Amino acid sequence: MGADVAHVRCSTTADGDFHIDGSRLTLGHRRQAFAPGAWTQLDEVHGTRVVTVTEPGEHDFDEADAAVTRRRDVVLSVWVGDCAPVALLGDDGTVGVAHVGWRGAIDGVLQHTVQAMRELGTTSLCAVVGPCIGPCCNEFGADLLRTFRDRFGPHVASTTTWGAPSLDLPAVVVAALAEWHVPVTLLWVCTRCDPRFFSHRRGELGRQVMTVQRMAAA
Ligand SMILES: [Zn+2]
Repeated sequence: MGADVAHVRCSTTADGDFHIDGSRLTLGHRRQAFAPGAWTQLDEVHGTRVVTVTEPGEHDFDEADAAVTRRRDVVLSVWVGDCAPVALLGDDGTVGVAHVGWRGAIDGVLQHTVQAMRELGTTSLCAVVGPCIGPCCNEFGADLLRTFRDRFGPHVASTTTWGAPSLDLPAVVVAALAEWHVPVTLLWVCTRCDPRFFSHRRGELGRQVMTVQRMAAA
C-alpha cells in the first residue's frame, strides 16, 4: 500500500468562472471538468468558520471560509479573486483549504483551520498559497495597515508600484502560520498583475478556484 498524496490545483481564467452566484448547472460542469469528484465549495463570508467534511459533498455551499477532511474521495475548494487561497497538508493525510482576505487573516481563520486539522489527528503540516494580490497592488489604508504591522511585524507593510501604502497579504499568511510552526510555499503570482487570473481589484467579477484533494498514490 502506497502513501497518500495531496493534489492542489489552482484554476486560471481559461477554466472559467467559479463564482457561486452564477448558474449552478454551469458551475457543476465546470467543477467536474476541473477536478472530478464530490465538491465542497463554500459560501465565503470573510469569517473564521471551518467545516469538517465527513462525507462526499457535505457542506457544499455552506457559509464558511475553510474546510478540512480526512477523506480521500472529496474535493475541498475555495474560490477567490485577489484573496489568498491557502492549502494545508497534514502529515497524517488530513487536508484543508482556507479563503484568506485581510479580515479573515486578522480574525484568525488560518489558526482555526490548523486547530481543526489538529483535532482530526494532524501533528505536523505545511501550506501552499495560491495566486492572490501581491504587495505591488494591494493598496491599503494607513490605519488598518498599522494594525497589521503591530500584529504580524513591520515586513507585512509594503508599497504599491504607484507609491501608495500596501499590505503584503502573502507575508501575512506566512507570519500567521509561522506562529503555529507551519512552513509555507508561495506561488508568487499577483492576480492583479497577471492576466491569467481574475482580479476583483482589476474590476472583474469572475473568480478562480483552488482545490485540495487527498488521493491514494498510484
Ligand atoms: Zn500586482
